[in-house]
Amino acid sequence: MPTLDPAATPLNSATRTARVAVVGTGYVGATTAYALLISGAAAEIVLIDRDHERAQGHVLDLKDAELFSHTARVVAGDFSDCATADVIILTAGVGHRPGAPRLEYLKENASIVKGIVDEISKHNPCGILLVASNPVDVLTYATWKWSGLPVNRVLGSGTILDTSRFRMRLAEYCGISPNNVHAYIIGEHGESQVAVLSSARIARLTPEEFCRELQLPCNDDTLKNIAQSARLAAAEIIKSKGATYYGIAAALVRIVQAILRNEHAVLTVSSVVPESMGLGDVALSLPAIVGREGIKRVLPVSLNSTESQALHASSQVLKTYIATLKEDAAKQDPAKEDMAKEKPSSAE
Ligand code: NAD
Repeated sequence: MPTLDPAATPLNSATRTARVAVVGTGYVGATTAYALLISGAAAEIVLIDRDHERAQGHVLDLKDAELFSHTARVVAGDFSDCATADVIILTAGVGHRPGAPRLEYLKENASIVKGIVDEISKHNPCGILLVASNPVDVLTYATWKWSGLPVNRVLGSGTILDTSRFRMRLAEYCGISPNNVHAYIIGEHGESQVAVLSSARIARLTPEEFCRELQLPCNDDTLKNIAQSARLAAAEIIKSKGATYYGIAAALVRIVQAILRNEHAVLTVSSVVPESMGLGDVALSLPAIVGREGIKRVLPVSLNSTESQALHASSQVLKTYIATLKEDAAKQDPAKEDMAKEKPSSAE
């Protein structure tokens, strides 16, 4: 039985209750639910986990925080509750193992996420699927294929977190607010990610110009080291405490807010890229306009030739892993190769 009221129609009324389902209530899912409650973004939060008791435990714990934050209906539910959720966040999967690359989890997490997407699809969801499980770009692509949803309604957290780490570090170095730093990390959420230094701007100046103005040392290496520190941030956190969850939870809530408020915010989230970008059949992060319909438009980024080559290389890495998934799917069930559908030409 659905735990939420199935009569209300998602995505079509300004007055209706905003509902978010979180699938997987481990470190990432539970922290996301907490961040959602504290933000007041959702009026209903449903927690779904194969360990129902764990989900139920989080519900009770979150209720204890309600009086001190926002009122929300927090419940432990099942996949039928996804039917009327505005956003369904997928956080189920195995966590990182220290030192191992994200793509190593591909097969294990793909199998978990496929099972979940199949269950959700049975209930004809009306909302947006937001993937956080790693490797997030590969699983965003696969979720789109498995769900059969339009390309705009499946997105992944992608490099939103990497971009925030990069902006924070640049801002710290320059001694200004990150709000005045405009810089993107694009491509894979992982080792092949690309820091777009050529078009980074700090208070409308290039980083070099800004640093010259403040008499801070700044050369190519300075910026590359800052980008490298952002790229290694997750590994450093995992080495010291085993998992990352606060940053990703806050980033997921930011994406949910952009969707629920129809903000048309530009965020570096992962989505199936339009053919016109020339990156092939892949999901990766580029700046995208995010609103009520999910991905409204993927935006081009101004890149120098090194960055452009790096983005193509990142796309290639991801396509190799997607190909592995497709081969596995074909081997398991050649008659029902569910990752072989045609790709639409645009993300609009
Ligand atoms: P975790 O092990 O703490 O939690 C995973 C949860 O998923 C568990 O509660 C488990 O019971 C549940 N689960 C597993 N299979 C399920 C199924 N079939 N149906 C429902 N629930 C199921 O792991 P975590 O640290 O929360 O990480 C979760 C995922 O998020 C991992 O893939 C991790 O790599 C990823 N992650 C992504 C980012 C990012 O930036 N995108 C950041 C951190 C973690």
